[in-house]
Amino acid sequence: MTPLLGSTALVTGASRGIGRAIARRLAADGVLVAVHYGSNEAAARETVHLIEADGGRAFPVRAELGVAGDVDTLFAALEAGLLAQTGQVRLDILVNNAAITADSIDTITPEAFDHLIAVNTKAPLFIIQRALPLLNDNGRVINLSTAATRIGMPEQPYAMSKAAIEVLSRSLAQLVGGRGITVNAVAPGPTVTDMNPWMLDNPEVQRAVGSGNAIPRAGQPADIADVVAFLASESGRWVTGQIIDASGGCFLG
Ligand code: NDP
Repeated sequence: MTPLLGSTALVTGASRGIGRAIARRLAADGVLVAVHYGSNEAAARETVHLIEADGGRAFPVRAELGVAGDVDTLFAALEAGLLAQTGQVRLDILVNNAAITADSIDTITPEAFDHLIAVNTKAPLFIIQRALPLLNDNGRVINLSTAATRIGMPEQPYAMSKAAIEVLSRSLAQLVGGRGITVNAVAPGPTVTDMNPWMLDNPEVQRAVGSGNAIPRAGQPADIADVVAFLASESGRWVTGQIIDASGGCFLG
């Protein structure tokens, strides 16, 4: 079934991890996906290859975020790709997924903090600003946050950058609701990706991390992608301005 056939999406950070799973899932639903990446071209090409092997459509878009001109670079490549693939420059779905982690609150440097905010908070805001004129009515904006915004986690000042994303999502929902555009944040818990290298290929660690969840296993990228796909679908039309926890019930207390 391809319920979103003819739709277009930009998924940032789609070369690996959760972004790749989101890109693959949306493409399986019929969406033409712009697979954004920062530097790992081989991984982005692999995402495109996997999508095409499954019968879907995608193209890679390179732009390092968090540097001067990042949004200009991204949209120049995105717009050229959409024009080449569809004959027009229209978007239905924007997924702000690309992000980085950082050092602990007691060790992070001002420079590293600036970069964290530039990639995780500033880039999504200005990507949204630039995408709005391209976004069709009844479109979707889905921003990746983290379940870590719900608790104190001193080793993750990165959660600060994501708390801003949640506020942005709520406020933007009000701004664009009149056009039928929904805006939500999806908050994963610990998920097996390159962002958590200690979990990769280590079932014991994954079991230990997952044991704190109501559903006692570690999250997989597809667990998050399915939630994003719901929000992107017609079935998600009445959900907006929300923070959707997709963590298997982690940090429930
Ligand atoms: P990964 O580290 O596995 O992948 C990160 C992706 O973002 C890659 O595609 C990478 O591109 C891209 N990216 C990173 N920095 C930049 C940059 N400066 N410019 C452009 N692209 C960049 O991340 P995850 O899949 O784990 O995370 C995806 C989202 O989910 C993030 O928003 C994260 O905060 C959130 N999340 C993840 C959790 C987890 O446990 N994994 C938990 C909670 C939230 P490239 O391949 O080119 O480097």
